[in-house]
Amino acid sequence: MPDSPSIAIRVAIQRPIHKLLDYSCDPKSPPTPGCRVKVSLGNYPITGIVVETDVESEFSELKPILEILDQTPLLDNEMLKLLDWASRYYFYPKGEVLFHALPKNLRKGNKPPQLTLWSINQNAEIEAKTTDKRHPPTFAAFLDQLKRSPKQSELFQYLWENGETDGIQLQNQFGDHWRSYINQLMKKECVVSREIDADYFPRKKVFKHASSSKATLILTDEQQQCIKQIKKHFAEDELKPILLHGITGSGKTEVYLNAVKSLLADGKQILVLVPEIGLTPQLLSRFQQFYPQYSIVSLHSALSDGDRTRAWLGAKSGAIQIIIGTRSAVFTPMKNLGAIIIDEEHDASFKQQEGFLYQGRDMAIKRAFDAQIPILLGSATPSLETFHNAEQQKYHYLRLDNRPGSSNPPDLVLQDIRSLPLEAGISNLMLTEIRQHLNNHNQVMLFLNRRGFSPVLMCPNCNWHATCNNCDLGMTYHASAGKVICHHCALENPISSQCPECNSTKLTTLGQGTERIEAVLKSHFPDVPIIRIDRDSTSKKGSLEKKLHTISEGNPVILVGTQMLTKGHDFPKLTLVGILDVDQALFSVDYRSQERLVQQVIQVAGRAGRGTDKGRVILQTTQPQHPLLMNLLSQGYSETAKQLLNERTLWNYPPIGSQALIRVNAIDEQNAFSFLRSLSEKLKELQNESVELLGPMPSPIARRANRYRFQVLLSAKNRRDLHVFLTNGFPILVKARKLGGVRWNLDIDPTDFI
Ligand code: ADP
Ligand code: ZN
Ligand code: ZN
Repeated sequence: MPDSPSIAIRVAIQRPIHKLLDYSCDPKSPPTPGCRVKVSLGNYPITGIVVETDVESEFSELKPILEILDQTPLLDNEMLKLLDWASRYYFYPKGEVLFHALPKNLRKGNKPPQLTLWSINQNAEIEAKTTDKRHPPTFAAFLDQLKRSPKQSELFQYLWENGETDGIQLQNQFGDHWRSYINQLMKKECVVSREIDADYFPRKKVFKHASSSKATLILTDEQQQCIKQIKKHFAEDELKPILLHGITGSGKTEVYLNAVKSLLADGKQILVLVPEIGLTPQLLSRFQQFYPQYSIVSLHSALSDGDRTRAWLGAKSGAIQIIIGTRSAVFTPMKNLGAIIIDEEHDASFKQQEGFLYQGRDMAIKRAFDAQIPILLGSATPSLETFHNAEQQKYHYLRLDNRPGSSNPPDLVLQDIRSLPLEAGISNLMLTEIRQHLNNHNQVMLFLNRRGFSPVLMCPNCNWHATCNNCDLGMTYHASAGKVICHHCALENPISSQCPECNSTKLTTLGQGTERIEAVLKSHFPDVPIIRIDRDSTSKKGSLEKKLHTISEGNPVILVGTQMLTKGHDFPKLTLVGILDVDQALFSVDYRSQERLVQQVIQVAGRAGRGTDKGRVILQTTQPQHPLLMNLLSQGYSETAKQLLNERTLWNYPPIGSQALIRVNAIDEQNAFSFLRSLSEKLKELQNESVELLGPMPSPIARRANRYRFQVLLSAKNRRDLHVFLTNGFPILVKARKLGGVRWNLDIDPTDFI
């Protein structure tokens, strides 16, 4: 064979195409898989990620790569393997999946950012006014200069004691304002900076200034037992995921913290996944208090691109020991990952609902399995998926059944509202109870999963309803904004005082959202602060923190909110929780809604009675005899979950069976429908008996944002059968001729059917 002048490499690009592209490169210095390269597509330069080198291309004429962008791979082999699996499991283009795993800055082909290090300015010329025997004179001189700025002075001392330090460390030590302190110090020429490659900064391990007041609690026997078991399981040859089923307030965080101690001491890293970081600052600060010696970073969407990239690279290089992040943090490369923890594993936000439709929890389990590291899933209300795996003994199952200290789980009661007077959906008995709890200097929370003032704005004269032009659905009246807003496409219309159909001036509302509850409570309790927590009232940066701070002061307040209130919060003075709208979910056609309802009830209820006074939870309902509610109250979560699992078994619904959903939408209704009909006919021709196709049918929201929507549901007895079927069927879907403007997606393990 003649010597080939170049070799072929295979490259993935960020385009919705289901294939990889081959290019040629110099055989003397080929890029490694996981590195980015610049290649040309058409005649445009584009960034790609190398997935394979030295391949045998089916094409003889290959374009050469234009440039190698990374010398060391951004994605290591382990991560490449995981992402390859994800691309095949979710039938999502490999290039899109690979690029999804990179922070934004690096997707564009930018150079990995430099890391800035700060240190004291050894050459500063500062006039010494005082002398201090313990330090060289310049130190005292500096401090003298900074004596009017205590924070700058503190930061300066920190640099003096610790030497060169990076922003992540300063952020950990001094909070969000560190940058303004350092800028001041730079201006005063007390501090200098230099830049290095972000990848290679070896982090110092000693944080002298971190507080340690609450660093260690005395663990309960139950917690100790759990930790012992977890450590034992961590050390087993055959690793299984561990489910920690601990009631709300049972102290799962302490268990996580202690369980990973020796891993961290061995130099391993820990990845902690949480549903929404903005709502769990408590978890981050708890980790920081407990592990002041380690570098801990939270990765979430509110970080700037630069900070996110630095954190990502810090995790990759091993400089950061603990990453606490939301769903997408599962893709963080880690040099020496020792364990993964998923807190509130049941939470719906682990599933991405647009673009690359992956389930973060499942990705984490797969990642842990491949890397042969332990994974710990925690929840007070485990998902039926996880619960089922525990029942099948595929997972270890551990429980925490008590709250530490004197705090007991709250009493849960049903309140039959069929014969009670209601005001904006709140019963008079509920109002009486609220008054009692406030009089006892406690806090109260009312939960309603609907924001806005009222879901219906209508004219009683001619029956006109405010509906969205783009979705054919009702618009929600938002009193404070003075608008009706569509919750499905965000269309906003101003409201007029007159009916657009008959000019009647007597427009009225039907039903209630959190705004209305707030207004009614204000009229009954004019002297008590009413704190509303929902997406509208917390959209401004810092407003949620402010509200949480007011609550933490412990004075009597009434909280009104949506599901934002269910997550992780610890309000010690909260003793009464009222849940206003359980009925809706009882009759939903979505088979998952009952699971979600019981989880939500238990999670909301779990906010009550975390302090010394016992908590009470009242569920208003018109269905007090409903078996689901009766079971939940008399037998608790586990028994209810088992019953729901039995029902799922009967119908062969997940997690027993397996499902996928093909969604199609288009502005033209006929185009969308015809496309899906001819597609499903072709799929049916595959004649696979183990997979059932249901549809095409209109989606539950048949028109949204001006697009008509249809779907086909695929069900199989198990995951394997479904995957085999889709492996054959997917090329048909990709090749299907798209009538004008048709868009589709394929959702594997769908959780949202709207
Ligand atoms: P969970 O996540 O299980 O709902 P948390 O971990 O938030 O519960 O703990 C609930 C509360 O109990 C927190 O305020 C925590 O500080 C406290 N706590 C946990 N363990 C102990 C303990 N051993 N002794 C005293 N308080 C504890
Ligand atoms: Zn009218
Ligand atoms: Zn709309």
